[in-house]
Amino acid sequence: MSLLSVVVPAYNEQDIIEKTASVISEILIAENIDFEILFVNDGSRDTTWKKIQQSAERNPRVRGICFSRNFGKESAILAGLSESKGDCCAVIDCDLQQPPEIMVQMYRLWEQGYKVVNGVKASRGKESAMHRLAAKAFYSVMSAIVKIDMTKASDYKLLDREVVEALLQMPERNYFFRALSEWVGYRSTSVEYEVAEREYGTSKWSTRALIKYAVTNITSFSSLPLNFITVLGVLVFLIAVVFGVIALVQYFCGTAVEGFTTVILLLLLIGSIIMISLGIIGYYISKIYEEIKQRPKFLIAARTDTDTKQPKEKE
Ligand code: UDP
Ligand code: MG
Repeated sequence: MSLLSVVVPAYNEQDIIEKTASVISEILIAENIDFEILFVNDGSRDTTWKKIQQSAERNPRVRGICFSRNFGKESAILAGLSESKGDCCAVIDCDLQQPPEIMVQMYRLWEQGYKVVNGVKASRGKESAMHRLAAKAFYSVMSAIVKIDMTKASDYKLLDREVVEALLQMPERNYFFRALSEWVGYRSTSVEYEVAEREYGTSKWSTRALIKYAVTNITSFSSLPLNFITVLGVLVFLIAVVFGVIALVQYFCGTAVEGFTTVILLLLLIGSIIMISLGIIGYYISKIYEEIKQRPKFLIAARTDTDTKQPKEKE
């Protein structure tokens, strides 16, 4: 029988670990699917790791790994995938906002030969208007870059071992799971689901974290912003030619002094464009720097199976 690994990234999710483990277990046992649940504690500051350990003690199908600090959700997913043993791996959020029943449907599709089964949001659930707008902008940019509609994409997916291995081979540090699992290709299909409301705790994303996430992911997938600089440069050059001609004409007509405002305006315009451009180039250089350091994407401090020492916890 084939084994399904369920990867669950968890960051400050102490109140729901136990419930998530039991809900997923019940559903998969009822469907007669062999599975393991792999919690990845992404450097939580609460008792999440303790809850994962307790859950692993009670339920032999539950395993857990613990990061040395918070490395972010993408790294947590990657760590879970690299530790998984299953013939296929599902990735699901810890907060049960993504209905676990859908996983059964995904698994059946995998049995039919699909290598990637994407969970697709039927709607985005409850969120603020600002958030909705920002998300829309981000996903339309991403969709244009990846050339796949990503507006309804989520991290809720089921992947075949082959795809998991392909993803694990990606050397890049800025890892965007949602887009990379599309990028690898393979035979894929999708399943729609309704986003449930969060029962416990709050969303783990601050506005700042979301903006950083958007910028990082766009730049890790596209060098378009760099080309944008060239376009800007050409534009400014054209404007400069027009103003240059005007200035020369004025000079020869003997009415040159007036142009002072234009000079100031041009100076400001060109100055700001140079600064923006330098900023964009600098950002890419910083990304290259990050990649070239070849630092590990995450560090595992403890595991439930070969547990040695426990990280310090603040209660
Ligand atoms: N998460 C994580 N590391 C982080 C932030 C979030 O592992 O730094 C996990 C979190 O525990 C949850 C999932 O990622 O299982 C989705 O987070 P959340 O529900 O806060 O995001 P939202 O549903 O609001 O998009
Ligand atoms: Mg959530």
